[in-house]
Amino acid sequence: METVDVLVVGGGPGGTPAAMALARAGKSVMLVEAGSGLGGTCLFKGCVPSKIFRESASRLVDVRRAGEFGLRIEGAEARIDWDAIQGRRHKILKSRSDAALLAARSLPGLQVAFGRARLTGPRKATLEMNGTHREIAFEKAILATGSLSNTLPVPGGDLPGILSSEDLIEIHEIPRRLVLIGAGPIGVEMAQIFHLLGSKVVLLEALPRILEPVDAVVADRLAQILTREGIGLRVGVTVEAIREAERRLDVVYRHGDAEELASGDVVVTVVGRHPNVEHLGLENTGVRVDRHGVKVNHFLETDEAGIFALGDAVGQPMFAHWATSQALALARHLLGEPARFPKVDENSAVVFSRPEIGMAGLTEEASRALGMDVAVAEYDFRRDARAQITNDAEGLLRVVYKRDDRRIVGIHALVEGAADLTGEAAAVVLAGLTIDELASTSHPHPTLTESFGLAAQAALG
Ligand SMILES: Cc1cc2nc3c(=O)[nH]c(=O)nc-3n(C[C@H](O)[C@H](O)[C@H](O)COP(=O)(O)OP(=O)(O)OC[C@H]3O[C@@H](n4cnc5c(N)ncnc54)[C@H](O)[C@@H]3O)c2cc1C
Repeated sequence: METVDVLVVGGGPGGTPAAMALARAGKSVMLVEAGSGLGGTCLFKGCVPSKIFRESASRLVDVRRAGEFGLRIEGAEARIDWDAIQGRRHKILKSRSDAALLAARSLPGLQVAFGRARLTGPRKATLEMNGTHREIAFEKAILATGSLSNTLPVPGGDLPGILSSEDLIEIHEIPRRLVLIGAGPIGVEMAQIFHLLGSKVVLLEALPRILEPVDAVVADRLAQILTREGIGLRVGVTVEAIREAERRLDVVYRHGDAEELASGDVVVTVVGRHPNVEHLGLENTGVRVDRHGVKVNHFLETDEAGIFALGDAVGQPMFAHWATSQALALARHLLGEPARFPKVDENSAVVFSRPEIGMAGLTEEASRALGMDVAVAEYDFRRDARAQITNDAEGLLRVVYKRDDRRIVGIHALVEGAADLTGEAAAVVLAGLTIDELASTSHPHPTLTESFGLAAQAALG
């Protein structure tokens, strides 16, 4: 039996940085990954591939909009080469995964093992690789096994041909007609990407609005844009069944009293994700899990002392940067150093719609639900210099601040370029800057960051 200080299960954006930070500090660490490379869902099936597709779709829009900028493209028509887009994806994924493996293997204390780990007791695991088994004893374990797509529990919900978001990434051709069920961040991003690439898209959502955790005003504005662009968005609908018809799938859904139908060559369900902990051997330990995720305390320790869990495996919020922040905090904690674990009300996130949505901290609704007396400073990008120059002037910024101490608790933007504003917006929230300090911060002209100062100044009159 081999013995290590720390066993890390899962080589995604949660497990890999935790393993590397611990090994760098002198611990003996084994990082086990069931897939063929390091990077997890984020690299192989999530963040990166979807943004590679989005980039191609956006560049296509740019070419088609060239005339808006006084450019005439003569002679050649922009056409989509899906095989080339997929080829580009494979190349980027491989180079990122290879680089991660090289970095991990350069650390003497870190063993990377490709295989499937299963806990056989509170301090023991077995590692299955190519039909062989290795027994491992550990002092501490970190479970970073991620999440899997939910299926839709309706008749026909498991028909062959109904895809998950992971399957959609691998698709060999752009569907002619695509029905997406679920208008969360993944559903919205995919709807717009494939719409821009030429699919006729229907997007169905059970809740009365899209993007439930996003600021309501911002989400509503994006919903108007999706509809105006020609995406068949239906909210407040209940999918009742999916039926196979000749060379298509029919999604039957209820809208009020009416039964309606959306047909597609491809149907994708993006109706949430659940923790990937089956076959992990948790029954051999005291680790508890429910449908939201592995139960952990503030220090990410499970009910079994010495076994920790993080990232998607512990539930919402499910973001790569969140998993990494948790991983780095946990590594410090395990090394006996002071650690600041990330807090949901200081988190940032981006929906890579077009225009992008960036959000940091609390929404207006969430802060009111917490009993805060808040006001909102707003800015309309239609009057913004930078947005006019790039001709992406549709959108708004909303800065949520407390009336009593004037501290900013949330920043929400809908504008093309919002993704790159969001990390620093999170710094404003984390630092607890006041709306007055934001108003007097120097923001360079003409940049989208000016919107922060102008919104704050407008709120101060
Ligand atoms: C389509 C899509 C788009 C997304 N876009 C974004 C985005 O733009 N930005 C963002 O922040 N987040 C995005 N996400 C979410 C992001 O991918 C996840 O939050 C993130 O990958 C979670 O990291 P993790 O390390 O917890 O789990 P994962 O990345 O899922 O990694 C878990 C790893 O554990 C391995 N594993 C599981 N069980 C075992 C076992 N028993 N033994 C060994 N290995 C095991 C798996 O093979 C996997 O590699 C997206 C997700 C999807 C599906």
